[in-house]
This record gives sequence, C-alpha cells and structure tokens, in this order.
Amino acid sequence: MALLRNSALQGTITPEMEQVAQKEGVSPEFIRQKVAEGKIVILRNTNHHNVVPVAIGDGLQTKVSASVGLYGRNTSISEEIAKIKVAAEAGTDAIMDLSVSGDIDTMRKEALAATSKPLGTLPLYQALAEASQKYGSSLKMKVEDLFEVIERQAADGVDFLALHCGTTMDVIERAKREGRIDPLVSYGGSHLIGWMVHNGKENPLYENFDRVLEIAAKYDVTVSFADGMRPGCLADSLDGAQVQELVILGELVQRTREAGVQVMVKGPGHVPLDQLKATITLQKSLCKGAPYFVFGPLVTDTAAGYDHISAAIGGAISSWAGAEFLCYVTPAEHIGLPDKDQVRQGVVAARIAAHCGDLAKGMPEAVKWDLEMSLARRELDWEKQISLAIDPVTTERVWKERSGDFSSKCSMCGQYCAMEIVSQYLGNDKKHVC
Ligand code: SF4
Repeated sequence: MALLRNSALQGTITPEMEQVAQKEGVSPEFIRQKVAEGKIVILRNTNHHNVVPVAIGDGLQTKVSASVGLYGRNTSISEEIAKIKVAAEAGTDAIMDLSVSGDIDTMRKEALAATSKPLGTLPLYQALAEASQKYGSSLKMKVEDLFEVIERQAADGVDFLALHCGTTMDVIERAKREGRIDPLVSYGGSHLIGWMVHNGKENPLYENFDRVLEIAAKYDVTVSFADGMRPGCLADSLDGAQVQELVILGELVQRTREAGVQVMVKGPGHVPLDQLKATITLQKSLCKGAPYFVFGPLVTDTAAGYDHISAAIGGAISSWAGAEFLCYVTPAEHIGLPDKDQVRQGVVAARIAAHCGDLAKGMPEAVKWDLEMSLARRELDWEKQISLAIDPVTTERVWKERSGDFSSKCSMCGQYCAMEIVSQYLGNDKKHVC
C-alpha cells in the first residue's frame, strides 16, 4: 500500500483523504495538496483496522487529544479503558496511551480495540520499563530494545508515535550551561537524558533516525516529535535549549518528509501569554509548517486544581496563532492521576479552547455553530441550546437541577428575563445577546 504522503505527492486522492475532507467540509484536493506540502497529517496506521482517520493541520478544525495509561499501582487496564470511553464520549479526536508500567502490551491492544479514534504512544516508556525488569535498571536499556518496542507498537496499529528525536547531547550541554528553574519535566525526555548521560552515548533516536523512518514507513505511522526540553515553568519558556531542540526538529522534519513519512511536532508546556504567538511562529518557521501539537499550554504555574482552565486559555490563543492539535490538561495535572470525571473535564476544556481558536480564525463551521446557539438563546429554545452545547450532558443536568423541565423559565433572572422582555418590545429580528 502506498504511503499517504507519497500518494499525495503523486497527485492521488486516497479514500482516507476523501473521508477526512468530507468531515472537515473541505475538498479532497485541498487535503491532498496540504498532505503533499506536509502541512496536514492524516492519522491512521495501515494495521489499525477499526480506526476512523483524523486529519490535523493547516486550514482544518483544531483537534484535541486525551492521554491515559498505566502508572504504577493506582491504575488498571479496565479503569484506563473506561477513561478512553469517557474521553471519546466527551468528544476527543485522539487518544494517547502513555503507559509506563504494568502490562503495557495488553493495555495498548485493548485501547486500540476500544475506540475508533487514532491512538498515539510513546514507545520509550515501554522500552525503559522492560529494561528495568530485564536488567534491573532502565539505564541498561539497549538500543535494540528501544527499536524492537517501536516496531512492536507500530505493528500493533498505533497511529502516531511520539519520539524524542531532537534531544541531542549538544542540547543537553546547552541546558546544563544555561541552567533552568525546572530543568526537565518531560517524563520520556528526562529518562532519555539520564540514559544518555549515564552511558555517555548520543540519543539513539537521533543517531539511528533512518531506522525510525523505516519503521514509520512500513506501517504509515505519523511521527510526532516529542520535545524533551519542554519547559516546565513560565520562567524557562523559549530558552536556548528549547529553541536549539526545535532547530534540530526542523531539520528532522525535512528528512521525515523526504522519506514519505508524515510528521508533526509537539510543543510546550508552560508558556506566558505574551510568548504564545512567538512560540507558534518560531515552530511554524523552523519546522516548515508542520502541524503543531501543544501540551496545553499552561499560561500560569499557579493554577493547580484548575490547570484545565489555564491550559484552555493557552490552548485557545495557541490555536488562534496556528497550533492545530491540543493535548488536554485535566484539573488533576501536577497533583495526581485524573479520574474519569477529570478526564471528561479536561477534554471539554480542550475542546472549548480549540473551538475558540477556530472562531478567531474565522472557520465557517465554528462560526455557524455559535450563530445557531445564539439564535436558540434568542428563541429561549432550551432543548436546542442543550443539543448545541459543547457538553450537552452537563448543560442538561444544570438546566434540570436549577431551572426545571423544558416548559419552565430559566431561573437565572426569572420574570426579569431580558430575552423575553426584549423580544416583546423589539421582536425577534433584532440582534441581542443573553
Ligand atoms: S436573560 Fe436571564 S433568564 Fe433569560 S435566558 Fe438569559 S440568563 Fe436566563
């Protein structure tokens, strides 16, 4: 089967391109052209048979991803699968299984079977966990072990692989020289750097990058460059190490595209509001328009318990500035593993951010959605408002708890309902907001 990117370069519109074009309301030719340019990726592995392909990139609706996974004794496969189902119901576009312990193979296989959403993984986690079991320490991981896990996960049907290919020795030296408030917060990045420093070896993903590309090409997996130097606090944002890693990733984007493999780039993290636009512009320039997958970003370090809100603020502005894929952040970020309800809140918050960005970009479907909601508000049509809400489940629950059934009035202003009064005097043809 031809690689999606090569098909696009040869001028062929594939069924996947047609499928995502229909969902996005754009022409198949638009998708083909952007895939050929490397500005859109279509997530789907040729071995993931139940996947519904999802396109991410320039000119498309901003997408969101929810992360689950086995982390020590506090999680089980059944709980994590339940979280995947909650995230899918709440409208996530993709799932990441970031398991670091336990039966990672079974978790991944069950995750792939549980949802038709594209699934992403970070193979280094499993390679480190297996090395720890096999040799007594993750620091003894062999390069072969890492590549065997990458191949195993790709063969299982994983649609996008997060790989820290740009975290080189030079980048680490710069980070050491320049210093940071929070040196490393990327779990994979920190372990990889520990392995590199302990063994005095260059990053195996960088040194053997052609092997990464061979595996990705075999299954048409999208490579998602992870940022090992992701800043862990606002004070470290856009420092030398982060930017140097991004320069390297830009070079690797070019090599990945030349191999016919689709690629996107992952970004921060923690970014002050005033640096969001610069962060996105820099990535877009250095990585030649590759889709940008940002983690949040959080715009303050102080919102523990409410980091989904901090992330939604950062995500909305990032989407407006050009990021196309938002990794969710839950209210439990920094303080614990999220439960199902927190997963749901994280997905909804990320979707609000994505939608706000799409509105600011003037995306027709987003604008139409808001207009429909405004009209339903004017008509005091509660059922329609619930069906149009980004989270209909919560909207309906609050309506029933606080206002009553659909024949009731909204309890917020009661008899002083501005909507009702204005429609009496001005009719329904005037524009007004609630
Ligand atoms: S004006 Fe007040 S009562 Fe009327 S719909 Fe809006 S919030 Fe509810």
